[in-house]
Amino acid sequence: MKIVVKFGGSSLADAGQFKKVADIIHANPDRRYVVPSAPGKRFDGDRKVTDLLYDCYAAEQDPERLSTCLEAVRARYDEIIRDLGLDLSLDQEFETIRTNLEEGADKDYCASRGEYLNGIVLAAYLGYEFIDSARVIRFDDAGNFDGDKTNIILSRCLEDIDRAVIPGFYGATDSGVITTFSRGGSDITGSIVARAVCADLYENWTDVPGFLVADPRIIDDPQIIHTLTYKELRELSYMGASVLHEDAIFPVRSEGIPIQIRNTNNPQDEGTMIVESTSRRPQYIITGIAGKKGFASILVEKDMMNEEIGFCRKVLQVFEDNGLSIEHMPSGVDTMTVFVNQEKFQEKEQRVISGIHRMVHPDLLELESGLALLAIVGRGMRDTRGVAGRAFKALASKNINIKMIDQGSSELNIVIGVKEKYFEEAIRVLYKEFVQNPEDGQED
Ligand code: ASP
Repeated sequence: MKIVVKFGGSSLADAGQFKKVADIIHANPDRRYVVPSAPGKRFDGDRKVTDLLYDCYAAEQDPERLSTCLEAVRARYDEIIRDLGLDLSLDQEFETIRTNLEEGADKDYCASRGEYLNGIVLAAYLGYEFIDSARVIRFDDAGNFDGDKTNIILSRCLEDIDRAVIPGFYGATDSGVITTFSRGGSDITGSIVARAVCADLYENWTDVPGFLVADPRIIDDPQIIHTLTYKELRELSYMGASVLHEDAIFPVRSEGIPIQIRNTNNPQDEGTMIVESTSRRPQYIITGIAGKKGFASILVEKDMMNEEIGFCRKVLQVFEDNGLSIEHMPSGVDTMTVFVNQEKFQEKEQRVISGIHRMVHPDLLELESGLALLAIVGRGMRDTRGVAGRAFKALASKNINIKMIDQGSSELNIVIGVKEKYFEEAIRVLYKEFVQNPEDGQED
């Protein structure tokens, strides 16, 4: 068996956490390839090393401030090395980083040093080989990750290496320019490594017990989802559930490798297994509930709209011309409504309004802001009658007005739009309906 393990920043925040990580790795000899994040927060109010490194970048032009900022980064690693009793010096590394920054190194280079240095420390502690991700993770010159090229280089590199540490979050272009993924991107590196070594499992170790059925800031002590499909994960992540970086599923998905979310602080827990598909029935009819605030809707109404060929395309063209992506688009016979991100829309709203008037001459155009969307997601809904009915009834019983309903044709999700002020209450109502007192729906 080959298992790739990725540890997040809080799992590697100090020497105590490093010891837990080493225990986890040594507990199973199949855990052969390790992807670390940079050290995260040790306590509330602490700062992540990556954030300290962004400070260093901002201080590049000011030698005194740069020294102070670099010292703060250095102190984090020195403390870990000392407390682990390692015979390792990062003097040379910090010399190089300082010189590069003084010479104007860019932001990605700077941010990437957190994972780079942590990789060196962890490799020394485990006695594993250190592989600099700049050698094996490829980006093109425009900053886009090149999955195919990376897979060739990385799988060849790891072919003869039994155990290695490969830092998360960054790679480089062919000419060696360091490039990072977006924040939280070490999750993606873990997935890329899992694909390259044809792993049996990708374990993603973090500081939460797994994927939760609903947001713990809204629901007290929500249930853990034991098994989640990639598609369900995608729907939940899109709607704001954030345990794993959204792009982390793509490399493993193409190989059908499962991802297991596990808790470094409670390694005996099973966590959440994310799989391509499963015959395991979900614990409840629904797998999870997620949602986001901050949407606006644009209602466009015109008599006989349904007969006007190209009507929708023309309206959508206006959004495209203004660089706005569309979140949802329910329609009626003579109406269509477009849901967009409110913040992005606000800057361009007048241009969009005049654009729609010019393009389709509507009878009515109405804007509404302050909307929230929530999604009930679950593979179990497809085979169950009455889920939508129960959801609407439960919301109505609490006088929550539904602004929009959109059921994906995969029957994997039902998206419901409500006013932002009802958002938290709506999540609580749905959780209660489907999880706290679930009556089994009728199978279709
Ligand atoms: N250290 C980076 C961040 O803070 C990447 C990661 O942790 O995955 O975003």
